Amino acid sequence: MDGLNREISDFDIIIKNGTLVDGTGAKSKLGDIAIKNGIIEAIGNFSGKANQVIDATNLVVTPGFVDIHTHYDGQAIWDSQLKPSSIHGVTTVVMGNCGVGFAPCKPEDRVKLVELMEGVEDIPAPVMHEGLNWQWETFEEYIKALEKNKLDIDICALLPHAALRVYVMGERAIKHEVATKEDMQIMRKLAKEAVEAGAFGFSTSRTISHKSLKGEYTPTLRAHEDELTAIAMGLSDAGAGFMEIVSDWNEPDPETEFEVLKRIVKSSGRPVVFSCTQRHDRPHFWEDLMAMARQAQKEGLPIRPVVTPRPIGLLLGLNGSQNPFSGTDTYKSISDLPLDRRVTEMRKDEVKKKILSEDPIKGSTFPLINRIGYTQMYRFGSPPNYNPKPEESIEAMAKQKGMTAAELAYEILIENGGNNFIYAPLVNYADHTFGVCKKNA
Ligand SMILES: [Zn+2]
Repeated sequence: MDGLNREISDFDIIIKNGTLVDGTGAKSKLGDIAIKNGIIEAIGNFSGKANQVIDATNLVVTPGFVDIHTHYDGQAIWDSQLKPSSIHGVTTVVMGNCGVGFAPCKPEDRVKLVELMEGVEDIPAPVMHEGLNWQWETFEEYIKALEKNKLDIDICALLPHAALRVYVMGERAIKHEVATKEDMQIMRKLAKEAVEAGAFGFSTSRTISHKSLKGEYTPTLRAHEDELTAIAMGLSDAGAGFMEIVSDWNEPDPETEFEVLKRIVKSSGRPVVFSCTQRHDRPHFWEDLMAMARQAQKEGLPIRPVVTPRPIGLLLGLNGSQNPFSGTDTYKSISDLPLDRRVTEMRKDEVKKKILSEDPIKGSTFPLINRIGYTQMYRFGSPPNYNPKPEESIEAMAKQKGMTAAELAYEILIENGGNNFIYAPLVNYADHTFGVCKKNA
């Protein structure tokens, strides 16, 4: 139909004059790329015509990024675009990380999994309740529900251990009871079935920073080695899949925990990836983890660290779900007001006095509240400052101004109609540079 007036072309698409970065670590170079039938046919200088020419002058052209640690498990059900990843050059995401997700799930457990995702990933529960259509109970049915939704990028789903544990053990999972032999047999069978249905593996969390919004630790926190091995054996039965783990590495100590991973890999033959970040309370510990991973590689055991190329942090503000005063009684009493009325209230001297005198930690629902302090909080600014220096911390700025850090934080929050944010980097920023990410890589 449309072929009548079409020029006979050598290629389907030519991307011209781009700065080409090929992803191998090689230096970037200027050049063109020609694509035919979905395959790159030529790179550099070549002649030929194309049906479509894209001018990439002053733009970077790269292979699509694969983001192996995301939490799009909900969004992939209700959205057609996986923003912000898909607008930043990511073409494939792995989701279902950290043991949290929505399948398998019995109808009576839906609220539990939503509360857990809300606490771990700060995705508001009302959004999830509205968006999740729950057309599934098993993992396979979840995959089918995902397939029905056309997305702008590719997804790989992991079987989340918390969902699996609650599905098999119910309340016992939430209470951190030890899985019985029978529980483990069922988990193994379900893991095998999940991989056969398309799961890329399974994920688990062993960190106390993963809590539900009610403050309950994630159900997988203290799962025994036998249980993890049983699930890994499920992957082995299916002949595919890897295990993703997030851990505090202190139960009882890093070496013992790493040995557990090694034994799981040895018995199941399935690879493991773990999150490796620089914690600010233990700024050099990541080096020990890297050394242990290198040693495992030498022993032929595929246990690989996953490194984020930037700090991971929080944005705190009146326009977000948490701010440094969210846990105080007085803030809680006005937290449901619209933003402008909240700001008006907070400008009142008596309200300010009360909020600043109350304990923000005891009544907090924020799992990470104990890990942030004013020495590591910064005015986010506009344009945003992702690379703040120590002297720009709220603690340091407050000292300069002759006020307390809490007073300054309060001031920042109510300025600009309450739309300001405070940035609190949580990992990979102990020395106030991005250097550790490069070393880590
Ligand atoms: Zn995660």
